[in-house]
This record gives sequence, C-alpha cells and structure tokens, in this order.
Amino acid sequence: MSGEIALELIRSAQRTISATVMPTPLVYSHALSNLTGADVFFKLETVQPTGSFKVRGATNKVSKLTDAERDCGLITISSGNHGRALAWAARRLGVEATVCLYSSVPSHKIEAIRQLGANVVICGDSYEEAELGAHKLMKESGLYWCDPFDDPDVICGQGVIGLEIVDELPRVDTVIVPLSGGGLFSGIATAVKSLRPGAELIGVANRHGNGMLASLDAGRPVPIEEKPSLADCMAGTISSANRHTFRITRNLIDRAMMIEEKEIAPAVKHCCIEEGFVAEGGAALPVALLLQSQLGDIRGRQVVLVISGRNIDAPALADIIRNGQNPP
Ligand SMILES: *Cc1c(COP(=O)(O)O)cnc(C)c1O
Repeated sequence: MSGEIALELIRSAQRTISATVMPTPLVYSHALSNLTGADVFFKLETVQPTGSFKVRGATNKVSKLTDAERDCGLITISSGNHGRALAWAARRLGVEATVCLYSSVPSHKIEAIRQLGANVVICGDSYEEAELGAHKLMKESGLYWCDPFDDPDVICGQGVIGLEIVDELPRVDTVIVPLSGGGLFSGIATAVKSLRPGAELIGVANRHGNGMLASLDAGRPVPIEEKPSLADCMAGTISSANRHTFRITRNLIDRAMMIEEKEIAPAVKHCCIEEGFVAEGGAALPVALLLQSQLGDIRGRQVVLVISGRNIDAPALADIIRNGQNPP
C-alpha cells in the first residue's frame, strides 16, 4: 500500500461505501482554537451508525466479499466497536457474523452486537486470549476471517476519512488520530499524505493501550501487558503476524504521543460540556493531547482531531461529568 495505488484503492472504497456510509461533519472548535491559537476542527465519526468510524472499514470489507466467502459466514475479534460495525454491515447483506469478545468488553457494547443479530462468543479475559480463541474457532468452523484492522479493505474504508478531510480542508497542516491496531491511522495517513505530502500525521494512544507505540519503539510488533482503561476501544496487541498496519504506520507517522489514564476523563468531559458531543475514552485522546498542551506551539496551523466514536457507557459518562475523573 503506497503512493498512487493506495490512493486509488481508497477512492474506490469511497465509491463502494457511499451508498450506505455518509460523509461525517467537520466542525470548528472555538474552545480548542482559543486555547491553542490554532484553527482546530473535529472530524465527527461519532455520528456514524453503530457510533464509530468502524462502519467504514467493515462495510467496504463485506461489500467486497465473494458470494462463496459470504456463504461461509464471517468471524472476527473485537474490543466492541469493530464487532458492532461488522454485525451491522453483515446484517444489511444478509450474512451471518460471529464476534469473539472477552470478559472486560463493556456490557453495553456486547449487548449492541447481540441486538444486531450476530453470534457473540466470549473467549477469555483479554484481547490476546480472545484473538487466539477466535482463530481456533475460525479453523474449526470454516468461518471467513474479517480482521479488525490488518486488512487492506478495512484500512481503505477508514482511509475515506482522510479523503473527506482534505476535500474540505485542502491546506490542512496536522491530523491527529487515535492509534491502536493502526487501521484508522494507516488509512487516514495514506490518503492525507498522498494528497498533501507536507501534512503532519500524529498518532495518539493511551498508556494502557500502547500496543502500537511499544511496537514502533521496538521496531517490530511486540506484545504488551493489557490493563483496563476508560479508553476500552484501544485495547489489543499488534501480533507478530501483522502484515500491513505496523509497516504503514511506521512509514507515515510524524509523531507518536501518549496520554496518561487520568487525562482521559477530563477530555471526555470537555467534549460533552464545552463542545456539545459525546466521545468515548479512545475518541477523546486527541482532545486530551491539546488540553495537555503536549504538542507545543501550534499557533496558526489548521489542525484536525479525528473523534473516532461515541460508545461510552451512560453511567460512566454521568460519573465523569459529575466528577471530571475516571470512574472507579
Ligand atoms: C477501533 C477504534 C480505535 C482504534 O482504531 P485502530 O484501527 O485499531 O487503530 C479508536 N477509536 C475508536 C472509537 C475505535 O473503535
């Protein structure tokens, strides 16, 4: 995936998904622009059906399957949002989907996947255990594997966000993207760097979801210890079998940034109270970066924050708004 070919694949994904996935709004942030002296915009993936950008990649993937592949039924591993998006995309095309999750996935995310008619399997207590379980089940059952991030069709679906950003903001200077498995970052960075090579691409992760950051540091995919986080959608490790997102991310990332756990809740609260939208923990990481002034001087720049999803548990959100802190 590089250069012209990649951009063409992302444009093709845009045509493929346009019938079902609408472009999302790009909204100016007065509060963060005042704070930083930059022109700050939100790319609001929070308005997507299923509540996250993951419908883009999932819709592109499912649309491109052959009849034989669809007839097998689909299987995936998910921290919640990809499974929900795949269940949504599969149901639209009458395809059966099985989603492997683990015990710490928030129950509202599990319930939403069930409601879309997918088969839910809880495999163990961590992303890594669930991934092993899902691969085993795939081999036994003959179901077709749909990876949450390490798949060109998924990456290209997420990359459509980058096309939309440059289309509306041709002189964009900086794009800040939550970075976990790297499907979102790889797609957006490929699109934005192809169209605007001078743009800076920043990936941001939380300390408890730093699988990609640790792998970038190590120069190869490495396992990490999984710890609970308000940014539950950022869970997961980059496996040594990774074929695409590690390489693309390493090639295109200008800065990799880290957010501490206690910095996430104030960013979620800021989105709700100061900006007027709901962001889940992982989606608020770019906001946390600006609230913490971690980028240094960005005055005069056009900065886009990709707000990747809204699927936060209502009681947790209420706690955060009341206390401004991570729920206990
Ligand atoms: C999946 C997800 C991410 C991370 O995307 P990757 O492609 O795994 O890097 C970020 N935010 C939300 C809301 C997600 O669901």
